[in-house]
Amino acid sequence: MLQRRARLCFQHEAVKIAGIYALFATAWIFFSDRILAALVGNLATLTLLQTFKGWFFVAVTTVLVYSLVYRHVARLRHAERELLASEERYRELVEGTDDLIVEVDDAGRFSFVNHRSSHYYGVEPAACIGLFAFDFVHRDDQERTRAWFAHCLSQMVRSDSIENVQVARNGRETPMLWTVNFNYFPDGRLKRVGSIARDISEQKAAEQALRDHLRMKSQFVSTAAHELRTPLATIMGYSELLLDDIVGASTSPQEQREFIATILDRTEVLTRIVDELLDLSRIEAGHKIPLKIESCNLDSIVAEALADFSTRFPSHIFEQLPATGDACTCQVDPVRIRQVIDNLMDNAVKYSSSTGVIRLGCGISDEHCRLLVSDNGIGLTPEQQARIFDEFYRVDASNTAVGGLGLGLSIVREIVAGHGGQVQVESEVGKGTILTIILPRRLPIVD
Ligand code: ADP
Repeated sequence: MLQRRARLCFQHEAVKIAGIYALFATAWIFFSDRILAALVGNLATLTLLQTFKGWFFVAVTTVLVYSLVYRHVARLRHAERELLASEERYRELVEGTDDLIVEVDDAGRFSFVNHRSSHYYGVEPAACIGLFAFDFVHRDDQERTRAWFAHCLSQMVRSDSIENVQVARNGRETPMLWTVNFNYFPDGRLKRVGSIARDISEQKAAEQALRDHLRMKSQFVSTAAHELRTPLATIMGYSELLLDDIVGASTSPQEQREFIATILDRTEVLTRIVDELLDLSRIEAGHKIPLKIESCNLDSIVAEALADFSTRFPSHIFEQLPATGDACTCQVDPVRIRQVIDNLMDNAVKYSSSTGVIRLGCGISDEHCRLLVSDNGIGLTPEQQARIFDEFYRVDASNTAVGGLGLGLSIVREIVAGHGGQVQVESEVGKGTILTIILPRRLPIVD
């Protein structure tokens, strides 16, 4: 189309030059002879003047032709510069993009590929020409892609899209979204197939993460129901016993006190679960966990927690790590920090043997306070370490013998982040886990 327009433009210009020349020459010959003959009577003078007139004609037409041709060539040069600039612009667009741009024939053989192809195919663009595009499609997607291509050609589809996985020569796999344009001659024959493919690895990973999250969430609902039912069953059982006893008076006051203590203990478990659920709903709604910051001594919070856990889990060995630096004075919310310590200590108990050694300590430097909980329990792989702070994540979700909703550490992370701090994990499978909380000594000013 463009070429045809250019050709027409040239023809038009040539006809114009020839026309102007013919008009000028005809007018000159026609009028100049008559005017001279009318003005000059002498034949010798007329002949001389006609010779001058001939030379004058040559000079004037030379200038005329020169100026017309010059103007035409200048226009051509300008058009050529425009063409080169536009070609460069397109080349920059095609070669500068992260997308894969290819052109194939009706058999699916490459007739053009941009430089990005070497990234996705592991083959230089020039070496791609003539290769079959389908050979770079993953085995599982090949049949579907071929059938789709054949269908588009048979139905003379103009534009369509398809997702598949591309496999480079080195085996690297990339999920891609193709947008394909089919161009046809007026008689219906295929002219070319131009396609742009976008790397959708990140989108696919996000979709997978969302699916995992939804799966974990539905698993969470059944875990939560189970976690609520167990203490409720105990509370109900002991309440019934107490009620029977009050009627029948067959158990001793000591036994009744034990029943009530168990009910209280289970109620505390229920309260903890409900608190976790409330914290979760706050986090999911995008709200920060509210903090009541005050100047606190972490050593006393640590000592209290150790005393509490030693009473609750007498078979475990609890040790206080020697403090580093001066007294651990820090600006924190003491209730929330105790919640953090309880969560980490609970995990240390749950994921180590009943005779495991659990250490808790704190330290201080100029800028930071550190809290550290270590155990010699089952430990975590690097992949598990990367996920333990995700909501609902539990390494072994099927193990209902070990209670938990997969929320504790995500809440810990939120509380610590609210203090402007961070949580670090070090762990080795079979050897144990160390969780370290680093808090700024003074809470950063937040707008
Ligand atoms: P849960 O209530 O299930 O313990 P958390 O959010 O506290 O939930 O922990 C998430 C998961 O991280 C746990 O289910 C467990 O698999 C793993 N985990 C946490 N702490 C430890 C630890 N000290 N040792 C081994 N695994 C741990």
